[in-house]
Amino acid sequence: AKQNGKNRFHFFTPSLERIAQHRLTMETNLRRALENDELELFYQPKVYLQQDASQQQSGKLHSFEALLRWPQANGRYIPPDSFIGIAEDAGMIGHIGQWVLEEAAQQAKIWHRQGFHGNISVNISPKQFLLPDFERDIVETLTRLQVPDQLISIEITESLLMQDLNSARSVLEYFRRHGVCIYLDDFGTGFSSLNYLKNLPVDAIKIDRTFVKDLASSNADKAIASSIIALARNLGMLVVAEGVETLEQAEFLVSHGCDLAQGYYFGRPVNARQATQYFTLGTLS
Ligand code: C2E
Ligand code: CA
Ligand code: CA
Ligand code: CA
Repeated sequence: AKQNGKNRFHFFTPSLERIAQHRLTMETNLRRALENDELELFYQPKVYLQQDASQQQSGKLHSFEALLRWPQANGRYIPPDSFIGIAEDAGMIGHIGQWVLEEAAQQAKIWHRQGFHGNISVNISPKQFLLPDFERDIVETLTRLQVPDQLISIEITESLLMQDLNSARSVLEYFRRHGVCIYLDDFGTGFSSLNYLKNLPVDAIKIDRTFVKDLASSNADKAIASSIIALARNLGMLVVAEGVETLEQAEFLVSHGCDLAQGYYFGRPVNARQATQYFTLGTLS
């Protein structure tokens, strides 16, 4: 069909309205889901690599990462990447973060009683990190819920640290004093500066999935992954590879001294009941 200015105008206007309407609907539904306690946490294992991961189907369980899920009436889940941004813009991220923390803390206590002593890490969004008194709220919640030390850790992305190095350091030092470990998430994708690693009290680095994906074929990714591993080890930090999907990737990481791995090869994110089987049976069903 022939295009003219008028037609284009008519094409774009309703579509922008639809996007705005869609966000508003999502926001309303999300608020209701939070109020009705409909959100869920899934748990993905982090496993030790420096075992005999190449001979075993899976490495020994180290800890879990909590990943947020929003169940829908049709039995599917809306993934967090599709609604965390909306929650941030709508001023809901503080409430969601609080819900995630309490849910993970209760689960950590249950697993602790069942004999699993690894921790659960929760993801902190950049906007959440910048909320006033956010670190005190977290520690107070853990104290109120009587969560044993070290059972909750947090994952933060390096991008948010860029904003203000001094205040980031004081937040992270506060966590350290209270036994909350810090994972630096998606390492290598942000504006990573070695200066941050030097100055911030970070316990572990997570190598971003984009560097792991083509590890078997890409020489650049091999160089980057092995350098991040060496860097972390020389700084005395743990190093975790994310998104490990194949034996080849796992073997490369093992041979280069990577401490921990996470990915579909070792275990997908699953609900709490299924995750329990991961340490009771030693395998995911
Ligand atoms: P992330 O923290 O980098 O989490 C890793 C993502 O990779 C998860 O996606 C996980 O399911 C996925 N994944 C794990 N192993 C593999 C693999 O082997 N291959 C592939 N292709 N993917 C793998 P998910 O659960 O959809 O979460 C996406 C992002 O949403 C997370 O990225 C995190 O930034 C954010 N997120 C998740 N839960 C929360 C939460 O409770 N609060 C906040 N603020 N953000 C969250
Ligand atoms: Ca994460
Ligand atoms: Ca990540
Ligand atoms: Ca990510």
